[in-house]
Amino acid sequence: MASTGKPDFDLYRPSEEHDALRDAIRSLAEAKILPHAAEVDEASRFPQEALDALVASDLHAVHVPEEYGGAGADALATVIVIEEVARVCASSSLIPAVNKLGSLPVILSGSEELKRTYLRPLAEGSAMFSYCLSEPDAGSDAAGMKTRAVRDGDHYILNGVKRWITNAGVSEYYTVMAVTDPDKRSKGISAFVVEKSDPGVSFGAPEKKLGIKGSPTREVYLDNVRIPATRMIGDEGTGFATAMKTLDHTRITIAAQALGIAQGALDYAKGYVKERKQFGKPVADFQGVQFMLADMAMKLEAARQLTYSAAAKSERVDSDLTFFGAAAKCFASDVAMEVTTDAVQLLGGYGYTRDYPVERMMRDAKITQIYEGTNQIQRIVMARNLP
Ligand SMILES: Cc1cc2nc3c(=O)[nH]c(=O)nc-3n(C[C@H](O)[C@H](O)[C@H](O)COP(=O)(O)OP(=O)(O)OC[C@H]3O[C@@H](n4cnc5c(N)ncnc54)[C@H](O)[C@@H]3O)c2cc1C
Repeated sequence: MASTGKPDFDLYRPSEEHDALRDAIRSLAEAKILPHAAEVDEASRFPQEALDALVASDLHAVHVPEEYGGAGADALATVIVIEEVARVCASSSLIPAVNKLGSLPVILSGSEELKRTYLRPLAEGSAMFSYCLSEPDAGSDAAGMKTRAVRDGDHYILNGVKRWITNAGVSEYYTVMAVTDPDKRSKGISAFVVEKSDPGVSFGAPEKKLGIKGSPTREVYLDNVRIPATRMIGDEGTGFATAMKTLDHTRITIAAQALGIAQGALDYAKGYVKERKQFGKPVADFQGVQFMLADMAMKLEAARQLTYSAAAKSERVDSDLTFFGAAAKCFASDVAMEVTTDAVQLLGGYGYTRDYPVERMMRDAKITQIYEGTNQIQRIVMARNLP
């Protein structure tokens, strides 16, 4: 398969460095993030403890290149961080995931000035980044957006509403896609960096969601937001292409989130069935239960292999990345929904209550089939980019 000849390492199998990273992030997640996960969900509050712990260990935005003060982690390392955080708290895993989603347009297409200005605070942990593509009437058909950016001398003036924006209100920086030429549809869309403190930026009330309740999702209102033209990411009219190229890479981080949620549910169910006794023995002794666990582990491992392979393609920017990014996200999220539902089943009535974490994991898994393009849209993307 075509490759840019970038890093010469076999990402299908994590290296010793990747394994060491996994150990470090797992310890951190279990000690600092897990203890708050149930309460964060119950109270629908931002997981500040997770952000603080991730920033303290430099794991909040590992993808930022070293030249801009970041850890310069490769795509697989980023996947491992997100996977391990999601294993204990899916809401918290959106911190490293959306920091990558929001900032990748700048990394892929931004000017040197934009990179210097916006990546350093992200790497330092003093600012988070969000990604503003969706609108109330433009979800799957994102190119149908209405938010306008009109040139005014050395500035652009932005007006519109972005919907479903993860970490809105918490993030300092926002990559905003807006129409600069309404006659050209997707080729008339440009990308900009907007700051939370720009006059005219405001936020809607947090959405009341089924899952990932600790991750704030809000509308972003742009009311005559006047920003310097130098805040445009890439050339005028290239914003939609940049937004799609970004998703090729970041859908793999949603696959990682799905893997983590499913692994958390499987680990919990595995322990539970050994303890729970019915008919005078642990339910783990029943073959019907063993077969369920075998299927869960098999599907999860298949999803993991596809995700890691897609991460390798992301790192090398292979020509079939679009297919693999969509396939990993679609497959891993469908597996996460199945595995978490089966985990609830294995805990019986107890699994259906908030006294046990698998109920939260099942609710959290659902979003991975919806965002960064629903799984129907992933299938369209795959069909158009068959390997
Ligand atoms: C919690 C949450 C966080 C999010 N975070 C962000 C974010 O940070 N930034 C951002 O920009 N967006 C974000 N989104 C938006 C998300 O990406 C969209 O919700 C998603 O792309 C679907 O768009 P929609 O909700 O408008 O559904 P619609 O597009 O209205 O789809 C409705 C249904 O129709 C199906 N459908 C639509 N078109 C087709 C087709 N051509 N073929 C077959 N089926 C089709 C869909 O699959 C779906 O089942 C977030 C959403 C949620 C819920």
